[in-house]
Amino acid sequence: MKIVKFGGSSIASPDFVNKVLDIVIEKSKRDGIAIVFSAFAGVTEVLSDCCKMAEAGDIQYQPQLKALEHKHLNMVKSLVPVQNQTKVLTFVKVNFNELEGLLQGIFLLKECTKRTRDFVLSFGERLSAFTLTESLKSRGEKAVFIDSRSIIRTDNHFGNAKVDFETSNALIVEAFKSNPGLKVVTGFIASTAHGETTTLGRSGSDYTAAILATALGAESLEIWTDVNGMMTADPRLVKKALTIPELSYIEALELSHFGAKVVFPATMQPAMRKQIPVHIKNTFNPTGEGTLISAKAGNGTLVRGISSMKGVTLLNIQGACLMDVIGAGKRVFEAVARGSINIVLISQASSEYSICIAVSEGEGKRAKALIEEEFVYEIKTGDMEEVTISKGKAVIAAVGENMKQHPGASGTMFQALGENNINIYAIAQGSSELNISAVIDQQDMTKALNALHEAFFLSDRKVLHIYLVGVGLIGKTLLKMISAQQEKLQRENLLEVKVVGLANSRFMDFNEDGFNIANGFSLDNTHQKMSLTRFREMMNDMNLSNTVFVDCTASEEVASCYQQVLEANMAIVTPNKKANSSSLEKYHALRKVIGKGNARFLYETNVAAGLPVIGTLQDLIVSGDKVLRIEAVLSGSMNYIFSRLEEGLPFSEVVKEAREKGFTEPDPRDDLSGADVARKILILARESGLSLEFSDIEVESMVPEDTASAESVDEFLTLLEVHNADFQKRLDTARNEGATLRFMATLDKG
Ligand code: ADP
Ligand code: ASP
Ligand code: MG
Repeated sequence: MKIVKFGGSSIASPDFVNKVLDIVIEKSKRDGIAIVFSAFAGVTEVLSDCCKMAEAGDIQYQPQLKALEHKHLNMVKSLVPVQNQTKVLTFVKVNFNELEGLLQGIFLLKECTKRTRDFVLSFGERLSAFTLTESLKSRGEKAVFIDSRSIIRTDNHFGNAKVDFETSNALIVEAFKSNPGLKVVTGFIASTAHGETTTLGRSGSDYTAAILATALGAESLEIWTDVNGMMTADPRLVKKALTIPELSYIEALELSHFGAKVVFPATMQPAMRKQIPVHIKNTFNPTGEGTLISAKAGNGTLVRGISSMKGVTLLNIQGACLMDVIGAGKRVFEAVARGSINIVLISQASSEYSICIAVSEGEGKRAKALIEEEFVYEIKTGDMEEVTISKGKAVIAAVGENMKQHPGASGTMFQALGENNINIYAIAQGSSELNISAVIDQQDMTKALNALHEAFFLSDRKVLHIYLVGVGLIGKTLLKMISAQQEKLQRENLLEVKVVGLANSRFMDFNEDGFNIANGFSLDNTHQKMSLTRFREMMNDMNLSNTVFVDCTASEEVASCYQQVLEANMAIVTPNKKANSSSLEKYHALRKVIGKGNARFLYETNVAAGLPVIGTLQDLIVSGDKVLRIEAVLSGSMNYIFSRLEEGLPFSEVVKEAREKGFTEPDPRDDLSGADVARKILILARESGLSLEFSDIEVESMVPEDTASAESVDEFLTLLEVHNADFQKRLDTARNEGATLRFMATLDKG
């Protein structure tokens, strides 16, 4: 016998249900099976919402309920042939009449007890399983509907009832014996000894299936859902998540406990007790391998999966009374337990001065009150401080049995988090070494999951997220280079480069999946006005791992935000010289930030374009060399101009030509003034360890004085003609000395 469970996601529409019924019929030909169904997708949630609304006196529950009825009637009409529909349609209508009455009662009383809520929720599974039984019958199967309330006995812990296995096992065996045929059982619901309806906890249908499997000694339990199995991380948050072929019960339990919703955590205990293998399979990919959960730990990776749980509140309990006093911890936990509050994580430092516990968001305040009530005297005497609570946290956990006695997992974990600027508030590792958990800000959760996933499962692969400001001549060329190299980088360097943010001086645009830059890129069709503040906010909000900010502008304003970018642990790559050649104070402030964080600041192209001058200089300085003198031709534009001058052309013509060819700035005076060269030598001087300001550099401008104030570039070029003879004279003088004309920068004796 196999127990086969289909979740709501597998029966979301008539088309899906038909796929499910095909699988069921095919299976029942080969093996003895019994089926467990959840409610149709989303139904439990709507019923729960209706309860809340009715209780709050919101009459809007009525249209919600009507829509739900419609959904069920449609399911029946699509899944059961006309000649057999009457009975099922009547069943649906009768049940909705009852539901209407119930909700009306809640609405009038403005009260919905947990017991009433369980009863309302139970309609979901009853409706789906009954409809599907009839649908199977009409396909010729000898199907029998079993309401699990008659076979699973629980206590009266409504909403999360505890199973009485002894009684349930006997009831299940008996019911299976006396009902020949293909059994179709409702998931999620059960009843007390007094016949009150209970539920096993949200997502509890998996558990129902496990309970049946153990009672019947089934050879296996199959959980059919909408993903390819248990995955290395939540596939909704980590696009590159991989299916885990094999897992141990304990690993699956840990992963599901910390949020891997694909199986309900309690499912594992009965299966483990009876050593029943659990298969997780995809309804939409039935031939896929899926995941096998058994006693055996899967081999290979140190960490098997990463899971996360959001909506967590952290409580910090602190004070002298916790030190050395045996039993203080016990009092903390007992106080919380009195409120039936589940503790997600505990962490205590060896100083024993503080204990930190994580609970789910809704319980934070109550937990604080309970603890403070317990320690009321200690708080009065100052032996204990007020309990602090921090909301908006998430727990992220790396799970794997192979972590045992294999050092390195926590190193990898915390390094990946640190590199991505993710702050950790508390850490816990069980001595079983099965799980390392960290409490982080909820807003960092997706980034953290992806960073850890990359570190543990794709350690040979990396995704780089690039934000590029300045899509001008240089920016566009860079995009072309990236595009041309993209495939090779991915294939040979295992590096996936995604350009996720772009801006020029007017517009900006973002795309988390990466822009298609194959044919260049234009921001013309974008309507988001560029604002540097907003651009940086987007970089923070998108919160992607491995982020690089590329500044291809020459803007002072952009350069002035580097410090904040680096502080957010995003790397910077730039040819923009402004940051490194501004005031010494700013230069040193930037160095300080770089020293503190992990993010790199790369500006090799600030000086000498593609020649590795800055890196070489840095290496020389680090290894103890002293720079005595630097002498360099540092301006490509000026170099072109003077080379052409040597060829016999007049100076004004040469400048005009250089400008037309795009070798100068739009206004050639920006090059001829020598300021750009001065910035470059200043950067080299600073890299050599000298504390110089821009004003310390003596610059001989190549812009004749009477042309400096010309209004337009054309006017400047005309005025320049008068000076052609002067430049010719300089060239002749140089030639007479066996020299040539070049615009040089020299750093000498500091
Ligand atoms: P069902 O309706 O079949 O019970 P659920 O929605 O309860 O399905 O669970 C399946 C979903 O669990 C998947 O669609 C997936 O989005 C989510 N999920 C979260 N974490 C994981 C994980 N580690 N592996 C697989 N699925 C996960
Ligand atoms: N229908 C129930 C829920 O949504 C149980 C389940 O789906 O497993 O919580
Ligand atoms: Mg589920």
